[in-house]
Amino acid sequence: MNRRNRAAHTGWCAADHRCNLTEHRSDDLLVTIPGHGRAILTRVRDGHGREYGEIRARIALDPDEYTARVQLRTALTDLRALLSRAAELTRRAA
Ligand SMILES: [Zn+2]
Repeated sequence: MNRRNRAAHTGWCAADHRCNLTEHRSDDLLVTIPGHGRAILTRVRDGHGREYGEIRARIALDPDEYTARVQLRTALTDLRALLSRAAELTRRAA
């Protein structure tokens, strides 16, 4: 966020170094499953006022290549389902 817009932080914005480049960003929300992975959800408002939930995840993969590929395919399938469910909620709210 540039100096001109710095005073316009949202109520949920972390208002620190993460809030820059025309974006407001919340504190990270963490979901951790010890030994298996973690996900980070961050609320973001871009320079056009559009808001997003940004998700980053780290998944511990099995050393067996086949199993690792199954894990990744499962993660991708479930991410698609997650995005679809979130999109459906948006349409219902409109
Ligand atoms: Zn901000």
